[in-house]
Amino acid sequence: MSKENTSIHDFDINLICEYFSSLERQGPGSPEITIKALSFIDNLNKESRIADIGCGTGGQTRVLAQHSQGTITGIDLFPGFIELFKSKAKELRLQDKLKGLVASMDKPPFQNEELNLIWSEGAIYNIGFERGLREWRAFLKPGGFIAVSEASWFTEERPAEIEEFWMDAYPGIDTIPNKLAQLQNAGYIPIASFILPENCWTEHFYAPQVAAQEAFLKKYAGNATAEAFIANQRHEKQLYSKYKAYYGYVFYIGKKF
Ligand code: SAM
Repeated sequence: MSKENTSIHDFDINLICEYFSSLERQGPGSPEITIKALSFIDNLNKESRIADIGCGTGGQTRVLAQHSQGTITGIDLFPGFIELFKSKAKELRLQDKLKGLVASMDKPPFQNEELNLIWSEGAIYNIGFERGLREWRAFLKPGGFIAVSEASWFTEERPAEIEEFWMDAYPGIDTIPNKLAQLQNAGYIPIASFILPENCWTEHFYAPQVAAQEAFLKKYAGNATAEAFIANQRHEKQLYSKYKAYYGYVFYIGKKF
């Protein structure tokens, strides 16, 4: 791409999107865990309307489509992800069930009380857990469900290195009881919460990145931004392996009250 009319920030974002486009999913998770979270949701039928907010290229959206009734609209800020979302839906002949839209989660393109279910894996942190829960609630029908995965602390106290890393990356990270209180205070009945198993990080998120990183570094040899980005990804993986007893992703499932 031409750098003349592109800011460094745009270039970074485009590089990051290109890197994550080569992966089945853009955050920790797995098909088994998407299906497990879905098992807590009642009353979906052919007429149900589901949204997957921050869907990325749609790894989890396709699993949802294959295991639920109704139609699903995936939204993501990045057009490249939505293009892939649409082409992969077509490959699996899911295009009648899956619609992909470029839109921001702070202005989702839904009507009040339109949705039976809001899904969001590893994405609500972009506007913050509490804010997302409160603002998205308006789009749910009475009794509708929300299911989101979110980085959470497992313990009350943590080693300084990992505490500092997360305070910089996402100060909204909190303990599971505090997140559940936020869910309840935002107007939902807490239905279930469970910790994503380690293989959602190792097997489904980090392992596929090994080859992706090699290919990316080869393509962008000498590009300091690309090299710094990959070094950062590798550092995050090392931190996870060192401190996985203290944090991880948790699925939170609530019912609109
Ligand atoms: N749900 C996918 C998954 O689990 O594989 C993607 C998770 S990824 C960690 C977070 C996603 O949020 C990215 O696809 C990113 O483009 C999207 N995102 C970031 N800010 C957003 C915004 N304001 N509105 C919509 N999507 C956004």
